[in-house]
Amino acid sequence: MQKKKKVPQRKCIACQVRGDKKSLVRVVKNKENDIFLDPTGRANGRGAYVCANKECLSKAIKSKAFNRAFKMDVEDSIYEHLLDELEKIDS
Ligand SMILES: [Zn+2]
Repeated sequence: MQKKKKVPQRKCIACQVRGDKKSLVRVVKNKENDIFLDPTGRANGRGAYVCANKECLSKAIKSKAFNRAFKMDVEDSIYEHLLDELEKIDS
């Protein structure tokens, strides 16, 4: 009998929907307080997950969900960068 592969479930910080790693994208804050999109899911640092779409990312930004997740004030320029990055991996 084959064992069922366990898929790690993550929760979107914007809409609270749970999904597997493929439908969510990881955002990481590293030790230097740099915040960036981590499509590989392997970067070191504190991670937060959002659905891999602009709606949820925008929602997370507007509701300051990242500020809470990372316990810091995230600058607008960083948010703009995240949206740009998401568009790149989306297409
Ligand atoms: Zn979502």
